[in-house]
Amino acid sequence: MELACLDLEGVLIPEIWIAFAEKTGIEELRATTRDIPDYDVLMKQRLRLLEQHGFGLPDIQEVIATLDPLEGAVEFVNWLRDRFQVVILSDTFYEFAMPLMKKLGYPALFCHKLVVDDNGKVIDYTLRQKDPKRQAVKAFHGLNFRVIAAGDSYNDTTMLSEADAGILFHAPENVIREFPQFPAVHTYEDLKEEFRKASVNKID
Ligand SMILES: [Mg+2]
Repeated sequence: MELACLDLEGVLIPEIWIAFAEKTGIEELRATTRDIPDYDVLMKQRLRLLEQHGFGLPDIQEVIATLDPLEGAVEFVNWLRDRFQVVILSDTFYEFAMPLMKKLGYPALFCHKLVVDDNGKVIDYTLRQKDPKRQAVKAFHGLNFRVIAAGDSYNDTTMLSEADAGILFHAPENVIREFPQFPAVHTYEDLKEEFRKASVNKID
């Protein structure tokens, strides 16, 4: 049995925080795990910036509602789901992701939750567990699944290492350089090819 694990932002959908930064003009909100590998440091910075500028969850959700999956992503996910069981492993939050998951046909999503007060202010966040992407792959191994994983950034690399095969997709140069053990591709056609190569089954 083979399972495909995919990162979400940067792989199937745009980076939500970057889209929000563009809409609001808050330049510092453009930082992602590509720039700050420590997720807690990154999130604390985001929450501080939201508070400083007076933005709450409804403002962010308004922007997310205008976003679409990356071009070709819906077709790619459908292709993958025809051939593998697919689970999305993401460091985003359910409150952000659901409108976009609808557009992707609701594949399974394992991510985190925000803590929001009655006024819509984002006061904290709850990580489901530490190193969640790696832990998910380990758990799938415990269930006797073989795992092929793809992601674009630092927060994916433990998942890629834990998986039976790891693929970098849309990764920036610094990540590709630091993790030369993973094949790195930039189009969905090439990503399909990497899944074909990594699979123990014959994939068309
Ligand atoms: Mg990503």
